[in-house]
Amino acid sequence: MAISDKARKFLWAKSGNRCAICKTELITNEDKSSDFNIGEECHIISSKPNGPRHIHGLKEYDNFENLILLCRNHHKQIDELTDTYTEEILRYIKANHENWVRSTITNAIEDTSQNEKPRFLAQVTSGKELFNIINEAHGYRTDYDEVKDEEEMNYIAGIIQSFVDYGDISGMVEAYDKVRMAYDLQKLLDELDEKGFMVFADRGLEPMFSENPRSSKWTVATILLKKKENPEIIKVEFNGKEDAK
Ligand SMILES: [Zn+2]
Ligand SMILES: [Zn+2]
Repeated sequence: MAISDKARKFLWAKSGNRCAICKTELITNEDKSSDFNIGEECHIISSKPNGPRHIHGLKEYDNFENLILLCRNHHKQIDELTDTYTEEILRYIKANHENWVRSTITNAIEDTSQNEKPRFLAQVTSGKELFNIINEAHGYRTDYDEVKDEEEMNYIAGIIQSFVDYGDISGMVEAYDKVRMAYDLQKLLDELDEKGFMVFADRGLEPMFSENPRSSKWTVATILLKKKENPEIIKVEFNGKEDAK
């Protein structure tokens, strides 16, 4: 049996032309026939009785699920070190690599169109969830509905300040305190709920303000406090670009 064209196409496409272990590019523009690093379609489970990770009697050995794309060095390594590169480990590496290829390309596409696209924030009701959003964020974008009086203004200002403070110190505290902070945030969320506010939040990577926007990114937590009577509450649109003006 040989590997079908279909399985081969799948494997190369989903692997993004890169070795699943070292991520080296397999087919390159450089026409150096000397190093011939074109990548190898390797079997996770060998069909040969004394082959690597052999399992007897599989219906199919040459399907996409049983193949992993590797550079020559890593093919050699997985077939020699079969105690390290077990079937389970290879399946994990394969799945991880294919997800990485997919999400890297998807992110790159979204990145370029991000500014035109409004973001939809999800409602946050759990302190732990909110903690994960603000945890070690580098920046914050906050917004809230019109406040009705000075008392409410003070309250909202205090809440927003607390969220930002928690986020700022989250990177410096021990695991124990992180659990505590999530618990405290839960209490704040419950209090907000009682006072008629809903919290929407999201965390994303955004380019830092620098000459080359691609050079570095930082994590920005977006937090929005909405009043419950607000009719547009089902889906909250938050356009980051407008806010940055
Ligand atoms: Zn490799
Ligand atoms: Zn092999």
